[in-house]
Amino acid sequence: MTCTEFRALLTDHHGNELVAEVRTKFESHRVGCAHCEVFLESFTFTVKLTRRLPRPMPAGLEERLRAGVAKKMADEPAEA
Ligand SMILES: [Zn+2]
Repeated sequence: MTCTEFRALLTDHHGNELVAEVRTKFESHRVGCAHCEVFLESFTFTVKLTRRLPRPMPAGLEERLRAGVAKKMADEPAEA
């Protein structure tokens, strides 16, 4: 699994939507890639943060937070 594939699976992983085979590859990439480990933590933190906020959230806030994480991910160099 590449970093790009890993990042594409973050949302599915968080929703426990990965099949066992993919989850195994996801976890093995995570433990072997410091970049993706950080991305997963950032993503998880963002999701937890948005869930603690009162509903309904201010318009566009969740999108901005997700976009911020996505931008951070895009700015980081990917390792194969
Ligand atoms: Zn990676």
